[in-house]
Amino acid sequence: MATRHHQILIVGGGAAGITVAARLRKVEHDLPLDIAIIDPAESHYYQPAFTLVGGGAYTLEETRRNEADLIPEDVTWIKDAVSTFSPDTNAVTLADGTTITYKCLVVCPGLQVNWSAVKGLKEYIGRYGVCSNYSPNTVEYTFELLKSLKPGAKALFTQPPMPIKCPGAPQKAAYLAADYLSKSGIRSHCEVRFLTAAPAIFGVPFYAKELMKVVARHDIILNTSHNLVEIDARKRKAIFAITAGDQQGQTVTLDYDMLHVTPPQSAPDFIKNSPLANATGFVDVHANSLQHVKYKNVFSLGDAAGTANSKTAAAVRKQAPVVVRNVLHLLKGGAIEETYDGYAACPLTTGYGKVLMAEFIYGGKPTPTLPLDPRKDGHINWWVKTSFLPRLYWDYMLKGREKFPAHNTGYVDPGA
Ligand SMILES: Cc1cc2nc3c(=O)[nH]c(=O)nc-3n(C[C@H](O)[C@H](O)[C@H](O)COP(=O)(O)OP(=O)(O)OC[C@H]3O[C@@H](n4cnc5c(N)ncnc54)[C@H](O)[C@@H]3O)c2cc1C
Repeated sequence: MATRHHQILIVGGGAAGITVAARLRKVEHDLPLDIAIIDPAESHYYQPAFTLVGGGAYTLEETRRNEADLIPEDVTWIKDAVSTFSPDTNAVTLADGTTITYKCLVVCPGLQVNWSAVKGLKEYIGRYGVCSNYSPNTVEYTFELLKSLKPGAKALFTQPPMPIKCPGAPQKAAYLAADYLSKSGIRSHCEVRFLTAAPAIFGVPFYAKELMKVVARHDIILNTSHNLVEIDARKRKAIFAITAGDQQGQTVTLDYDMLHVTPPQSAPDFIKNSPLANATGFVDVHANSLQHVKYKNVFSLGDAAGTANSKTAAAVRKQAPVVVRNVLHLLKGGAIEETYDGYAACPLTTGYGKVLMAEFIYGGKPTPTLPLDPRKDGHINWWVKTSFLPRLYWDYMLKGREKFPAHNTGYVDPGA
């Protein structure tokens, strides 16, 4: 089979891959770079807006662009999937059998969504009341179902064990649904329940405290340590395993009219089965430099990186400049920097017109960017989520243009 070579090879042309390629082209340096992106996808989605599509506040088409239109100038697009890595010989193999060698590799193929991991989910997603904001193919059905609910309806929202893309997204769907039913005048006649496999509403205690108030305000029934294991969609029943407490090991079956499922997710199989993986299957990189711990000419960022940050596009925005500088350091012989602090952001839509902007770094320390109280779910943050951030993504981040605003690492929790 054929062999090709590119100096910088980027696996995955999603949020991370396009941002890195565009920045490598934009930032000033004196290296003639030969960059290629490998990605089989025709369409590129702004996934952070899927929650809004599921709530009827954004259209799916607004989230989509042709991948071809996003590949930066002078970057080669290889429209295929990577199937194996051979980092000892600086090579990857594509699905069509082609081998591509590289001087420097950037690995960012995102997370794998495991629809088959819940019995009945793959068969019934998109019908019989089973919806999900986690795919462009199923997200519009979320709003269709929401509009169809009548007094007496039961709406369930699930969250699987970590890792998932944007850990706040499952509960955002529940808040928008509760608010939608309130605005329709039938909230008090419907049941809204959020069932999460986690022991708490959110992994960062500072924000979890505020989110418990949102749960109470919307009168949502919260079941922690409840993991969806099976759907009997024709009977509209969902079965949950209880993973902690007195009833640990038992199952509970709930009726529903609307079941919003956040599917289990993992590192992609082709990463898991490669020499690049750590024990959890993600790319084994240093937490602050994003350089592979063993293969020094390999970097990873975005959802596939084995770092402890929350898996968000916001994290990619702060990781990409570090990876770009380190790729250039590697090629020029400079010292690798360790400056990524674990920043991630999760704009939690707590209702229509309201967003709680959860920003934090490694260790769960709150790090707001705007000089506003990060515990408040305000209207300005709704504008940031629905107007500013999509613009930032398409026109600045993916164009490699942004001078990223600094987040406040010195913020002190006034309630502590
Ligand atoms: C419902 C939902 C809500 C979200 N909300 C937010 C939010 O509010 N804020 C936020 O910041 N983030 C949010 N996110 C998360 C955000 O979208 C991701 O963290 C981000 O897209 C990660 O970027 P990435 O480049 O690592 O992966 P992706 O953007 O998913 O891109 C991965 C790319 O790799 C390609 N690929 C896969 N396999 C291969 C292969 N074998 N070979 C080559 N290419 C491959 C894919 O085709 C894809 O183009 C949300 C996500 C979802 C689904």
